Amino acid sequence: MKRFVSMEEISDGRLYGVNDMVKADCHDCVGCSKCCHDMVNTIILFPLDIYRLTQATGKSFRELLEREARLNVVDGVVLPNLRMTEEGNCCPFLDAKGRCSIHKHRPDLCRLFPLGRYYEKDDFRYFLQVGQCSHPRSKVKVSRWIDTPDYGRNREYILRWHRLLMRAEEILYNCSDEGLCKNMNLAILNTFYMAPYDTEADFYGQFAERADRMESALT
Ligand code: SF4
Ligand code: SF4
Repeated sequence: MKRFVSMEEISDGRLYGVNDMVKADCHDCVGCSKCCHDMVNTIILFPLDIYRLTQATGKSFRELLEREARLNVVDGVVLPNLRMTEEGNCCPFLDAKGRCSIHKHRPDLCRLFPLGRYYEKDDFRYFLQVGQCSHPRSKVKVSRWIDTPDYGRNREYILRWHRLLMRAEEILYNCSDEGLCKNMNLAILNTFYMAPYDTEADFYGQFAERADRMESALT
């Protein structure tokens, strides 16, 4: 999701690499679940998140859309996000004790928070969002905080997905043919979300094969 704000407004003004220390550790969020509430459509789900959520729940993407996720338009592209509950206005994976019931499989944006990604050319670094988490925090290495195994391949996937979305946004922004826009959004949804992932097999290979197909279609 693009944000038209200056880094000075939303961050501590620094960019962090994966081996840097950052003041993000909120000590297991003890007593707080603020960022699992009232998030509207902002916790966008990437393809790896669907793979993880299917592993955690046994549900297909279609089944997740019945309760845990919903579709929304993000910068012109239709993408899924976590759906807040009607009764508590909170994430459907938040348990009665205010803890994440799928912690090991939580989505990418939940792993990052309160960090964000700052994309530059063909790379990204991390920034620390200020004014989001008021819990006392101490320093932690970025790699430890984001808790993402196989970091090199994950980084490649994130960059490729980002490039693909940027390309799709560009095409959709300049597209005046409603049917074409609809078909492109359907192709992205079907390719990366509706078509089930084999959760017993490696995710990154499955994503790369789908990305090859989509990149050919977008050129
Ligand atoms: S606001 Fe901070 S302490 Fe509270 S749940 Fe979010 S990350 Fe944890
Ligand atoms: S998936 Fe877990 S960490 Fe993320 S919003 Fe839901 S309960 Fe919170």
